[in-house]
Amino acid sequence: MPFLSKTRSIGLVVGYLLACPGVSAGQNHTTPAKTACHTLSTLLGTDKVQSAGGAQYEASATGAWDLYNQFDKPTCIVFPRNSSDVVSAMRTIFHSDAHYAVRGGGHSAMPGWNTINNGVLIDFSQMKSFSYDPVRDSIFIEPGVLNGEVSDGLQSQGVAPVGGRVEAVGFSGLALGGGLSFLSPSQGWACDRFRALDVVLTNGRLVTATHTNEYSDLFTALKGGGSRFGIVTRYEVDAIHVGTAADKTYWGGTINVLIVTTVTYSNVSGTFTTAASVTLFYNGTEAQFKQVFADFLAIPAIATNLGPLSYNEVMKVLTPSQAPGIGPRATNYGGSTLYPGQGLFEKSYNNWLNFSVNFKDEASRTFWVITPVFQSQIDVSRAHGGTSFTPPNGQFPSFSFLFPLFLARFPSHVICSDIYDRLDISRIPRSPGLPLYLNESEDVQDALTTYSGYEKLKEIYRKYDPTRFNVRRMVGPNGL
Ligand SMILES: Cc1cc2nc3c(=O)[nH]c(=O)nc-3n(C[C@H](O)[C@H](O)[C@H](O)COP(=O)(O)OP(=O)(O)OC[C@H]3O[C@@H](n4cnc5c(N)ncnc54)[C@H](O)[C@@H]3O)c2cc1C
Repeated sequence: MPFLSKTRSIGLVVGYLLACPGVSAGQNHTTPAKTACHTLSTLLGTDKVQSAGGAQYEASATGAWDLYNQFDKPTCIVFPRNSSDVVSAMRTIFHSDAHYAVRGGGHSAMPGWNTINNGVLIDFSQMKSFSYDPVRDSIFIEPGVLNGEVSDGLQSQGVAPVGGRVEAVGFSGLALGGGLSFLSPSQGWACDRFRALDVVLTNGRLVTATHTNEYSDLFTALKGGGSRFGIVTRYEVDAIHVGTAADKTYWGGTINVLIVTTVTYSNVSGTFTTAASVTLFYNGTEAQFKQVFADFLAIPAIATNLGPLSYNEVMKVLTPSQAPGIGPRATNYGGSTLYPGQGLFEKSYNNWLNFSVNFKDEASRTFWVITPVFQSQIDVSRAHGGTSFTPPNGQFPSFSFLFPLFLARFPSHVICSDIYDRLDISRIPRSPGLPLYLNESEDVQDALTTYSGYEKLKEIYRKYDPTRFNVRRMVGPNGL
């Protein structure tokens, strides 16, 4: 039963992997999952419900983006084709009291958030349709769709959802956690543009939630609440008129610079080279771009790829570095949100440098990612009814530390032994009152508890899942 876990425990070496008891359902829950799988394969057929040996089982079981989620063995995997398959799956899981997991695009790096050992995995890889409705001026998206697929597919109609910045990432998990896009400064978080959500509740009931109907509380909770409030089987979102391939209305690209830093710590000192990559876009002319980003352009660059771009080309700028095949990586995050002028930026940078030095033998690269959240973004969010995490007024950057540890490079004891101690996540600075971004924080940072709507979120959760089935039977965001 090899799987990787970030939890501290004594591990057994299995090849180069470790067996670490931790996040997934234990052996005690095998029977409910087997019962659920048996019932489901009778109800839906063995094409939609596959156990080990099934045609798509292995590819799905090992198919999550992050190494942490590639080793669990679901008792069965359900590949729904429509909402009613999800209703059947959820009803059966609920009545069998089985552990379960839900996977949209499969990009979460949190162990157990998109896979399960000895439980039922609902994998949306067969629900990938999307369409633009010109009358409603909205886009319908099924939960297996990736950001790049919808952006490519609707390019000829000149529209796109507010999605992510990297093509290979799922729209579903990204939007349920909030969703930061290149469009966000003018269009809000991805979830701000939800219009209607078809949701299967934990008891298997299918409802449609909108901002104004009887499920408006559920609708708001799903804007940032992640996987805790039900399974979304269809999104209706605003269509943003970004233009076609011929409309090169954006100016921008990437500027690469080198920063050489000398650091001295108790255990190591020396000169470290940081490659800083700034990705800048402006929806306007070259002259406007150069004026707005003059400070960045003044930094001597080692390489740039700036130019006129269509929105779909903007979506591809960050893609190459994230392509599959760059090697297995087990990613650890450290999320942070800081107000300027509190002396925290430097502290944050130094922390990241410290972490990087700490992991210099195992991580071939570490990232300190900074995404500005502008007041305009907060204004758009409020104008669209707000979210469960809507921050107070005042712009701030959202920081994320990323530590992809490459399997070939780190000694096997590292991954299970003391990763949290070494990351020392508690030292990451944060401005009180600002929400952490659920999708770019580590699970132990309990992002939901930092939300402005946290108390309300707990109340809504109690209403829609009174037996706390989701929290008891699914690994996901903490705090409810
Ligand atoms: C390379 C890379 C680039 C990224 N870039 C961005 C970015 O530009 N902007 C940004 O905001 N974030 C970004 N992220 C973070 C990203 O938002 C999260 O990883 C997100 O969880 C990915 O969604 P997914 O559907 O692919 O993941 P999954 O792992 O499939 O799902 C993530 C979570 O959502 C739940 N979930 C998924 N679908 C459903 C559903 N239909 N109903 C209920 N729960 C569901 C899952 O159970 C899980 O808890 C990036 C991540 C990576 C790895």
